[in-house]
Amino acid sequence: MKDCIFCKIILKEIPSHKIYEDENVYAFLDINPVHIGHTLVVPKVHAEDIFDISSESWAHVMNVVHTLSPIVHAATNADGVNIIMNNKRSAGQLIDHAHVHIVPRFADDGLKGLPQHSENSEALTTMQEKIKNTL
Ligand code: 5GP
Ligand code: ZN
Repeated sequence: MKDCIFCKIILKEIPSHKIYEDENVYAFLDINPVHIGHTLVVPKVHAEDIFDISSESWAHVMNVVHTLSPIVHAATNADGVNIIMNNKRSAGQLIDHAHVHIVPRFADDGLKGLPQHSENSEALTTMQEKIKNTL
């Protein structure tokens, strides 16, 4: 798609540190990593986010995430990895071309996840029904 930075990276109109490419998927190092080795896995067919991507394209992306995660983990000597996808601005998405982050993590990196809270059983049941009824 015109004016999409990740489409331009896939087409090599903008340089990137590519680590993997096949017919459907392109993977490259994030230019502003949490830790070096932080990798972005993107579908070659432009889709905005999880709500827009086809199930076929998503399956290709996740297969590559599954292949690359242990490789990034080993190459960075990380203790673990986070697999993250941000969808929409409220969830932290900055680039509107769907992508999955593979983020190397270290036991002593001091980073915290999203804050969580306890929720009562009644509220959980109400939400359970709401989600199930939308399926
Ligand atoms: P988002 O917040 O949309 O989930 O993540 C977008 C990611 O793309 C960010 O982590 C950002 O550092 C990365 N990024 C943005 N522009 C470029 C670029 O031109 N090249 C590379 N390699 N990464 C980019
Ligand atoms: Zn794009």
